Amino acid sequence: MPGTTVWQATAPDRAAETGGEDRTGGHGGTGDLGGTGDLGGTGDLGGTGDLGGTGSPEFVLWLADAAGRAPAANAGPDLLRVRAVVIATGATEITVPFPGWDLPGVTTAGAAQALLKAHGVVAGHRVLVAGSGPLLLPAATALAVAGARVLAVLEANPAGPAAARAAALAPFTEKVAEAAGYAKVLARHRVPVLTGRAVTACHGAGRVQRATISRLTRDWHPMPGPGREVAVDAVHTSFGFCPALDLPRLLGCADVPQPGRPAAAVWHDGDLATSVPGVFAAGETTGVAGADVAELEGYIAGAAAARFLGRIAAVTFGKRTARVRAGLTRTRRFARVLDDLYPFQTGWLDWPAPDTVTCRCEEVPWSAIGEAVAGGARDVRAVKGVTRCGMGYCQGRVCGPVLQQAVATAAGRSLTEVGDLQSRPVVTPVTLAAIAASGWPT
Ligand SMILES: Cc1cc2nc3c(=O)[nH]c(=O)nc-3n(C[C@H](O)[C@H](O)[C@H](O)COP(=O)(O)OP(=O)(O)OC[C@H]3O[C@@H](n4cnc5c(N)ncnc54)[C@H](O)[C@@H]3O)c2cc1C
Repeated sequence: MPGTTVWQATAPDRAAETGGEDRTGGHGGTGDLGGTGDLGGTGDLGGTGDLGGTGSPEFVLWLADAAGRAPAANAGPDLLRVRAVVIATGATEITVPFPGWDLPGVTTAGAAQALLKAHGVVAGHRVLVAGSGPLLLPAATALAVAGARVLAVLEANPAGPAAARAAALAPFTEKVAEAAGYAKVLARHRVPVLTGRAVTACHGAGRVQRATISRLTRDWHPMPGPGREVAVDAVHTSFGFCPALDLPRLLGCADVPQPGRPAAAVWHDGDLATSVPGVFAAGETTGVAGADVAELEGYIAGAAAARFLGRIAAVTFGKRTARVRAGLTRTRRFARVLDDLYPFQTGWLDWPAPDTVTCRCEEVPWSAIGEAVAGGARDVRAVKGVTRCGMGYCQGRVCGPVLQQAVATAAGRSLTEVGDLQSRPVVTPVTLAAIAASGWPT
């Protein structure tokens, strides 16, 4: 959307030199809409590169509608009017509830990274990094380099046969080298990477002081036994990402389920056009696949938006995007390999205790979800209505994916059948003053 990760147009001559792979339009560019707030008229999707820049969003959109209107909370013009838009609003990190996950000192791995990168703050000194997925390695590496004693990286999925893993990753030498780099740094800091294990409980008075590490079955059920308790002062967990669908859904864009994951993605065609004319999507909104895919998709989506607006001809579009597509096919293939290596399993449903807080905003205990389903609630929205789970400040961004999987399992229905919480008008917290100033609805 304007002001977020809008594709930053590449100067035409530069794109021609590089076959369209100039990646100057990095993430988080701010939207200089030429002062009018009208992308259709003055916003330059055609080639001068003046849409991007400072890395911090100038506009936070809190609503959007099919008429092409999008009010922004923190800058003028308050009501943007657009004829074409690229939605690249990213994703939310998924973490699952377990006893003590709400203690101070327990955060997502992404939060730990953000604290470190943005503020130079290490959240703890005896740390476990746990969950599943490729993010665990760079997160643990960064913490170790910053001086934290990382006791272990715990990957919930099993290592699997080394030969099959090596064969799957072999074509992606640069990624293998990147992973080897993390492994080397972790080894230097004596950080073991243990598979088939998870933090299944945290304990402490006032903040996390101990964590229980459990061995897991292939589908993440804890093995019998009490687990091993270790002294910690921080635990960082991450179980993948959930595409942010609020804005695309408000605009009427269709989405598609992601197999095996409690998170749908925006449906799109080969040019990143969504089901709504003039609305394009890129990056994590189209399915979580990493920064390389996001960047290449952003290029194509931006060029497609320019073509939609008549700023570039179809033939130019084809030429400029041709080489980007080859790279995109390859990077998407790598993302699929990672999906296979790090499936999101359902055994975590055994980890919470009946009184484990599941919706942190509304303090809804885990037991309330099962009770609501037993009482007749058959989908996520019904359970939300009965329990208030997902009704608080974060509007289900934290508990939504796990609620979806919990309800699906308890009700014996598919993830699609039980639905999710991802279409909440008023996309981001906004003041009444900003709403009044926007003139919405007009
Ligand atoms: C801690 C961490 C480490 C990672 N490490 C790696 C790595 O090593 N390698 C890798 O390939 N990938 C990594 N990733 C994933 C990578 O960051 C993403 O794949 C990539 O950033 C996705 O790009 P995107 O443009 O889709 O979303 P983002 O980069 O997340 O950008 C989304 C933007 O939209 C803005 N936004 C959202 N909603 C609104 C709104 N309503 N109004 C205005 N603005 C809005 C957000 O503020 C944000 O600026 C990591 C992710 C995290 C969290």
